[in-house]
Amino acid sequence: MNSIESALGMLSEHFPGDVNVLQLKELTAWRTGGPAVSITVTSAGMLADLLGLTFSEGIPWFILGLGSNVLASDAGCTEVVIRLSGGLARTAWHRSEKGWDLKIGGGVHLPSLSGAACSRGASGLAFAIGIPGTLGGAVFMNAGAYGNSIADSLKSVTVLDYRGSVSTVPTRECCFGYRSSRFQEERTIITGVEMSLEPGDPALLRSEGKRILSLRREKFPLQYPNAGSVFKKPDEGISPGRLIEDAGLKGRAVGGAEVSRRHANFIINTGKATSDDIAELIGIVRESVLACSGVLLEEEIRYLGRRN
Ligand SMILES: Cc1cc2nc3c(=O)[nH]c(=O)nc-3n(C[C@H](O)[C@H](O)[C@H](O)COP(=O)(O)OP(=O)(O)OC[C@H]3O[C@@H](n4cnc5c(N)ncnc54)[C@H](O)[C@@H]3O)c2cc1C
Repeated sequence: MNSIESALGMLSEHFPGDVNVLQLKELTAWRTGGPAVSITVTSAGMLADLLGLTFSEGIPWFILGLGSNVLASDAGCTEVVIRLSGGLARTAWHRSEKGWDLKIGGGVHLPSLSGAACSRGASGLAFAIGIPGTLGGAVFMNAGAYGNSIADSLKSVTVLDYRGSVSTVPTRECCFGYRSSRFQEERTIITGVEMSLEPGDPALLRSEGKRILSLRREKFPLQYPNAGSVFKKPDEGISPGRLIEDAGLKGRAVGGAEVSRRHANFIINTGKATSDDIAELIGIVRESVLACSGVLLEEEIRYLGRRN
């Protein structure tokens, strides 16, 4: 029995009905990636049990949000893919004197939260309306746009560590930076956050949300599967899209993967791309930009599974 089969057997025995073998292409925004054992976790207690089991049995795992920033191997992965749902994907709203206090599950859909905040007149999340991930993924990445980031409104982040122990980390200890957080250096799962939002005018906030969505529709190649910006903005401050365009790479393709002609920092799946195509194209872009401008680009996207 291989390690995937043994993990599948063990998890199915402990969590009957919650474990599946899925294709990662069904779980990632690029729509690529091979088979994986996946478990959907619906409460903090269940997650603590799962992490206790994976720790004691030496089963590797990967926490996946909506896969909007992940390149998953065509060969699949040996890690058990954990996804948050049910009680870990809910938001509790509390009206306070100063505005709104929220308790938000790590599995909450960020655009829906942003839309709900605008409609209720809670300001500070309109920027996130077009970021197609979960709260947990957004905190892990410190996702942001238009000069705002998810860290701005957070009070604290609750995590479970690889043994299933809970802790709550105040925002000042989260080491947030540009697309970075301390959680990228840890084996933890973000199960929830506390956030404070100031009051705002619902009509203005809704129209701000609409404006942002229409800007994004114009700017980004949203009709094709993609994972948003592939590369981070380098320290030199020049946008990666500009550097990639200047290297003459717009439209450059490997198999079904193509550097978007609309926004050069996006790689699109034109229909039949594999993760290997995307990874090869990322390598070509990085090398060509280095040769052309001397800037070494760093990926924003995260990898799951074997890398060639
Ligand atoms: C069309 C498009 C537009 C985008 N625009 C933006 C943008 O404007 N700004 C921006 O910052 N990003 C953007 N992104 C990238 C992406 O949506 C964000 O990084 C998002 O926050 C990722 O969330 P996710 O749930 O999909 O995480 P995933 O892609 O599933 O995972 C990303 C990383 O987070 C980790 N992770 C996920 N959930 C948890 C958790 N609960 N606990 C601990 N770690 C976790 C994963 O292990 C992985 O390493 C865009 C992507 C797309 C496809």
